Amino acid sequence: MTETPQARRIVFLLLATLLPGLAAGIGSGALAGVQTGVLAGSLAGIVSLVIAVASESESARALTRSGETADARRRELAEERDGALLEVQTLASAIEGMDEGMWITDANGVVLRHNEALRAILGTDQELVGQRPLFLLRRTELHDAVLRACREGVTSKVEVSMDAPRNKTLEVHIAPLGGSLPGSAAVFRDVTERKRLERVRQDFVANVSHELRTPIAAILGYAETLRSGALSDARHAPQMVEIIHRQSERLGELVEDLLELSRLDAGERPLSPAPVSLGEVARQASEAMEPRAAGKRLSLQLRIPTDLTARADPKALEQVLLNLLDNAIKYTPEGGTVELIGERVGDRAQLSVRDTGLGIEAKHLPRLFERFYRVDRGRSREQGGTGLGLSIVRHLVHGMEGEVRVASQLGVGSTFTVVLPVG
Ligand code: ADP
Repeated sequence: MTETPQARRIVFLLLATLLPGLAAGIGSGALAGVQTGVLAGSLAGIVSLVIAVASESESARALTRSGETADARRRELAEERDGALLEVQTLASAIEGMDEGMWITDANGVVLRHNEALRAILGTDQELVGQRPLFLLRRTELHDAVLRACREGVTSKVEVSMDAPRNKTLEVHIAPLGGSLPGSAAVFRDVTERKRLERVRQDFVANVSHELRTPIAAILGYAETLRSGALSDARHAPQMVEIIHRQSERLGELVEDLLELSRLDAGERPLSPAPVSLGEVARQASEAMEPRAAGKRLSLQLRIPTDLTARADPKALEQVLLNLLDNAIKYTPEGGTVELIGERVGDRAQLSVRDTGLGIEAKHLPRLFERFYRVDRGRSREQGGTGLGLSIVRHLVHGMEGEVRVASQLGVGSTFTVVLPVG
């Protein structure tokens, strides 16, 4: 150990003290950044301290050493100091370049130093140096964690929700500086997007469970009733079997839609956009839907220029049209009209499905393409809807570098328009 320069020893003492504490409980993806950040930040904050301690201590040792010339000793000291400085500067520039915010506090929890990223994460222009955590974020849990790190050497992680207008969630790792250094270091990560995605996933799982439970309960209920004697009830048994059949179909459709969405999410359905004739794809889709339209006495019309082409994946585009036509037929009362209209607008090709159906109130339009979003849950179920059709449409259209829009008027009808690059 005696030959290790003092500055280097302090650096490694910091490394050893800060790393294990902060590593605990940190997600693996974030680990590298957080560790680097804490180290670099600590070191950046105490550059002068390290240099001063190193110089002082080495000078003292130099004085007591015998048999060395003053010149040789000075050179040695200068080299050691330069080495330590380089190490510290490298880490200091790393902290400035990282995405996480970081601050160093003194023994009373007052901010001494911070990197630039911290300002962006806290969304503030105000002076941070000289402030206490409670003043900056108004969260007692963060303030307490910083004081515990300073006074008791406790390492912790807290989640801080910032109120409007910032509306962010931050994950903050706090650790004592360690060794003989008083104070604490904290690393801030903006986890707002991660939290939002977690919520979306949880909502999705809850929705899926709910959607599956309803048909399963109906199937089980009627099967039980039949088993306990209703099978011989010639009047009601066929009705019950019919319901079981319909609900089983519904379950099947739901599972199919879920699988389709999961394939799209996982990128397992790569789309291959190529020039396709919109009239051709529209004709195939409308032929498939014609029997259902006829069953509701709806007139299904096609108005697409024969030479209109778009860059699209033919299978994906057909599925988009089938979903949109299916909705138009479901939500248009008997005797209405459903049209498929194609037109070219600049370098884009547009394909619209227009109906004279129920229409949709404006307040629902922004959320219409979300998974499981329905204007009228009961009506959708009654019509055999899964609440996933439009989210699949949006996914597919985006996959073809297009967009999908909706315009609607309550009681008049709806128009869903798919816009694609011209083929
Ligand atoms: P669903 O399986 O319920 O039809 P979608 O995702 O296809 O699910 O559509 C979401 C909701 O949008 C529907 O429940 C319905 O309320 C509304 N909707 C979709 N298309 C139409 C339309 N052509 N006319 C009226 N409402 C529609």
